[in-house]
Amino acid sequence: MKNESIWKLENRPFQTKILNNDITTDVLIIGGGITGISSAFYLKDSNLKITLIEANTIGSGATLNTTGKMTFLQGLIYHKLENIFDFNTSLKYLQSQLEAINLIEQNIKTYNIDCNYLKNSSYVYTNNEKEIKEFIKEQNFFDKINLKYKIIDKLPIDLDCKYGIKVENTAVFHPIKYLYRLTEEILKNNIDIYEHTTALKIEESDQKYRVYTKDGIITANKIVVATHYPFFIVPALIPFKTHLEKEYVLASKIDKIKEFNAITNKNPIVSTRYHQDKNNYIIFASIESKLAKNLNNEANFSRLIKKFEHQFENKITNLWFTYDLITNDKLPIIGEVKRNFYIATGFNKWGMTNGTIAGKILSDLMTNQPNQYIELFEPNREITMEQIKNFFIDGFTSASSFIDSKINKNKEFYENVEFRTIDNISCGIYTDENKKQHIVKNKCPHMGCSLIFNNEEKTWDCPCHGSRYDLDGNVIKGPSNQNIRFKH
Ligand SMILES: Cc1cc2nc3c(=O)[nH]c(=O)nc-3n(C[C@H](O)[C@H](O)[C@H](O)COP(=O)(O)OP(=O)(O)OC[C@H]3O[C@@H](n4cnc5c(N)ncnc54)[C@H](O)[C@@H]3O)c2cc1C
Repeated sequence: MKNESIWKLENRPFQTKILNNDITTDVLIIGGGITGISSAFYLKDSNLKITLIEANTIGSGATLNTTGKMTFLQGLIYHKLENIFDFNTSLKYLQSQLEAINLIEQNIKTYNIDCNYLKNSSYVYTNNEKEIKEFIKEQNFFDKINLKYKIIDKLPIDLDCKYGIKVENTAVFHPIKYLYRLTEEILKNNIDIYEHTTALKIEESDQKYRVYTKDGIITANKIVVATHYPFFIVPALIPFKTHLEKEYVLASKIDKIKEFNAITNKNPIVSTRYHQDKNNYIIFASIESKLAKNLNNEANFSRLIKKFEHQFENKITNLWFTYDLITNDKLPIIGEVKRNFYIATGFNKWGMTNGTIAGKILSDLMTNQPNQYIELFEPNREITMEQIKNFFIDGFTSASSFIDSKINKNKEFYENVEFRTIDNISCGIYTDENKKQHIVKNKCPHMGCSLIFNNEEKTWDCPCHGSRYDLDGNVIKGPSNQNIRFKH
């Protein structure tokens, strides 16, 4: 069994550049996931000089760890959006998701992309009778717009289901094969991509942005931050408007695939889809919580496996966990934050569609084309007192105090890990199987949260905003862009 996503590919069909001097560009896109690559893709035919930088490798972030469904049936979102905003906002969001599915399908067709694309139906379901009235509210929304759906009381597989909604014309695909093919197209169009290039700092002067990396400064007229969780706090006040949720995922070989994907409405979330490649797989995700809670990864993986084995007898081939940014008002954040400074994030676990539509919206904004979704996802939309309150509850209280009071004092939680103050610096120390000590500073440079040790993957993880570091403190996932190596 591999502790990595099933989408990880050994070979790549393209080569990128190495940055070794200062450069200038019209547009700098930071981040090479579905959002950054889609943005570059939709800008490829413009007259603008486009450059993309990626801290690690293309498609190594959240896009590698998704379940890869392309669906507009995203839980019971539409009646909720209607309540928070209004009918038109909810309808517009639905249209944006349909358009995104269409855009991905068009790309697959036009570029003949071999990405295990499979058209199927989507289900949202529950085994709890008390939830049925919520399903009826969603049905009422669909009735108002004449959207076709079916009510079901059984799924095509043996998962507990009392009530559900089924819709047609959705799909699943291999997100990394799709992303790699778009990357090939981008590179053919004279767009420069630099991997292993982290944006460390952004400065604005003379109506230009200067983005600092360790290998050179990139001066750009416009920048797009497509880094999943942005590495800056202001503007856009992202931490106030969002929180991170994690989920554990597994893939298992099966004999035959089925042409549907499904998700439960509420906790305990169970998300299921099939994948047809050289072998057939079922992908099963569950054990969802806020990032700052349920910090014991080993225990969470065991719960996932137990849950899967309760229903299926198949052999598990891959296990991984991932998280996504959830917006408190349930709409993604896409658009111009300030003059020529663009952002796209907060996809609420629906980033295949939202990352794609984000690419199209940002491209239209930068090339002065109309786009009917610009207002819908406005990043500077109002922030409420409720969101500020949630920020303190989610971001600091639960993470810092939980870790300090429970985890750090509960030594048996960690194997071979201890916390100690050295030279007045709070440190985390991991002793490997050769008795070598790896010492890191136990404070995330992004916003100062204490770190936890992830024994499954041997990384130091920030439970507040999701940054991750290897054993020696090198950052392997943002939003942090600084290492936490400890030097005497
Ligand atoms: C369990 C789970 C299941 C999901 N399943 C689905 C699904 O079925 N369908 C769906 O539509 N969505 C799904 N999602 C959501 C989806 O996976 C994400 O929303 C989407 O992949 C986000 O893409 P992105 O391009 O914004 O981020 P990423 O893919 O994370 O890309 C951001 C990139 O920016 C780079 N970066 C970060 N900081 C810097 C820096 N300072 N300098 C340079 N580069 C930087 C990172 O290395 C990374 O490669 C799921 C999410 C979860 C948690």
